[in-house]
Amino acid sequence: MDLKMRRTCKKLDDSIMASGFLDSFDYVLCDCDGVLWHGPNPIPGSIETVQALHKMGKHIIYITNNSTKAREEYLEKCAKFGLPGKVEDIMSTSYCVAAYLKSKHFQRKVYVLGSTGITFELQKAGIDHLPVGPDPVPEDWVKWIPELKLDPEVGAVVVGFDHYISYPKLTKAASYLRDPETLFIATNRDEQFPTERNLTIPGAGTFVAAVETVSGRTAVSLGKPHKYMFDCIKEMHPDIDVNKCVMIGDRLNTDIMFGTKHGIKTLLVLTGINSLEDVHEYEKGSQETDQLLIPDYYLTCLGDLQQFIKV
Ligand SMILES: [Mg+2]
Repeated sequence: MDLKMRRTCKKLDDSIMASGFLDSFDYVLCDCDGVLWHGPNPIPGSIETVQALHKMGKHIIYITNNSTKAREEYLEKCAKFGLPGKVEDIMSTSYCVAAYLKSKHFQRKVYVLGSTGITFELQKAGIDHLPVGPDPVPEDWVKWIPELKLDPEVGAVVVGFDHYISYPKLTKAASYLRDPETLFIATNRDEQFPTERNLTIPGAGTFVAAVETVSGRTAVSLGKPHKYMFDCIKEMHPDIDVNKCVMIGDRLNTDIMFGTKHGIKTLLVLTGINSLEDVHEYEKGSQETDQLLIPDYYLTCLGDLQQFIKV
């Protein structure tokens, strides 16, 4: 690879600040899990930093691949933590699913391997769906298979995060997808959830991979790093310009790639999925895709940005 093409990640410091970093953007695209909070717990310093950015006139957009909540529920969570924003400042993959189906003038029913975040957004968009929730493995699953009935109205399968994932759900999703006309949509492909604990928590990407494997089909993925989320933001904020945004995230193959692929400057924080060692590995990488995984800047945590903000 041409060495001139290689990207490097710099720690945000006084000299970068002096060169006008804070004036280089007016929109902050902020990932949530692993940046602002871990589940119910805010990450120390993150809330205060977002408040300070807002106070200096930056427009904050919360952009999450997590489909477990509708936008109103995220807004409630933000408000509980004292984060500024209105519903149009929240962009979630649950919303993107409804917007995508609406754009396709979808008139049939959706089979959702996911949660109420998605179905709530579908209902708001007037799109019919089958219920979500537990669909446990029957005691005698061999007998259950010939009795399984499919709803002939289903015309789309949506796969997101579903903590009730089960054999019957995988069977149904894959069976609906036998019809090549059935739309196949993935909210996102995040393999895991960030956690403070020494655990690996499966994310929606795990279930997407399972349904793709069993159905032999490839889902249309709406979440970061794909541009669809930016298009949805632009619909609500027509003045947004990629050159005047910064994307803040904890994950390289979603948040950072979302920025690097679409011309948005990127800031990695080390409170979630990826480490600085991961970045250094990609800096040494020989593939061009490795370059897309290298953020412009990093900070240990979002709270470390606050010292540079004078309001
Ligand atoms: Mg995250």
